[in-house]
Amino acid sequence: MSALLKQRIGSGLTVAAKAAGVRIFDSQGRDYIDGSGGAMTVSIGHGVSTVLAAIQRQAEAVCFTYRTQFTTEPAEQLASELTALAPEGINAAFFVNSGSEATELAMRAAIQYWREVGQPGKTRILGRQISYHGMTMGALSMSGHPARRKDYGDLLHPFAVGPVADNWGRTAGERPNELESSDAWDKAIAQAGADTVAALIVEPVIGAAGGALVPPIGHLRMLRNVFDRNGILLITDEVITGIGRTGTWFASEHDGVVPDLIAVGKGMTSGYTPMGAVLFHDRIVEAMRQGSGMAPFGHTFSGNPLSAAASLAVLRYIRDNDVLANVKARAAQLQAGLHDLQRRYTALQWVRGRGLLWGFDLRKPDPAATASTGALFAADCFAEGLIVYPAGIAPRDHAAIVSPPLTITANDMNDLLRRLEAGLRRFTARAIPSDTR
Ligand code: PMP
Repeated sequence: MSALLKQRIGSGLTVAAKAAGVRIFDSQGRDYIDGSGGAMTVSIGHGVSTVLAAIQRQAEAVCFTYRTQFTTEPAEQLASELTALAPEGINAAFFVNSGSEATELAMRAAIQYWREVGQPGKTRILGRQISYHGMTMGALSMSGHPARRKDYGDLLHPFAVGPVADNWGRTAGERPNELESSDAWDKAIAQAGADTVAALIVEPVIGAAGGALVPPIGHLRMLRNVFDRNGILLITDEVITGIGRTGTWFASEHDGVVPDLIAVGKGMTSGYTPMGAVLFHDRIVEAMRQGSGMAPFGHTFSGNPLSAAASLAVLRYIRDNDVLANVKARAAQLQAGLHDLQRRYTALQWVRGRGLLWGFDLRKPDPAATASTGALFAADCFAEGLIVYPAGIAPRDHAAIVSPPLTITANDMNDLLRRLEAGLRRFTARAIPSDTR
């Protein structure tokens, strides 16, 4: 058994030896299309030379300084370029090392905001059912993710989760789910007590917990209005959706909503190095400035120069190569390909997505199967040289996500779709061999 603990203890994993563009090569030289960008992370593909050069240049200059002793040029520049891309009124960034740290910091910043303006009783965060904001205890406390919460019970903060987010786009006309209407949210707020709630946290598109569940346009606007009316801040968790994944720099742009706090991670470095960030609306920074004058956040590696240099190179690559235009073109191709597969394979159901973040449900091949259906499907795709991300929460863990690098070419997308069909054939053959229509 290897010394490195695996999620399933004692199991083995394929050894990745090299990666370039949308492909990862194992130690036997076999190639896999990175159809999920790892965990919805790889935004500009592997091995991009400008990023490697930026990391090397920075490494030769200075690898580490501590955030209260020095600032660095890449950290300053990244904060400035990142906030310039963010919605109007968002002009400050604080850097952390992961998505969990970002949502956790957004939570503490929201609580601090209310303390600074004289309402210290507002300390709870409302989240959505079917959501995931990270593994640290604060982030998990905000997550509507029973499977990951179950071992910690009352050790988690007593936050409430709002109505069920489900069924979006499943019915004709893409009506918002009745269960997540503004009335239902008003009720959830009243139940929690508006004077105890600091913020709502939502993913603009629900990622791993639901399998790319996309609310109808207007939904985030509705939430903003309801929470404004109740004097509650809005945190958007754009750890997956931020930095171009849905075709705009930030997914809240689709609704023209300006959040109070935005958590980003994953795609901001495309996975070259670990990094996350919280972006702050002026009103939050102003309250902190006029109050305690402190932003008492941070970790040893906050604003790490190597990660800042990597992220800066990633942002510039996306901007200079008009990657968002590619997202739109490839999104149309992926959508058409998935709908074609849905027509031909009954195992694949309810295709949904935005930009290059797509999900679908899978019909359980064998009603008696105990393994996660999404994981079975991901294994079948892996055997065909394609990585997809299993999604959903048990017992509804029968979804998968396709979220390739935003730079994927038309040819590689065709290859991805061919491999997806091969995976689907394998999956279908598990129990229903003649189920191809
Ligand atoms: N928020 C969302 C929406 C996520 O998908 C994730 C990770 N899957 C996180 C937060 C946590 O990020 P990390 O794993 O980098 O801590």
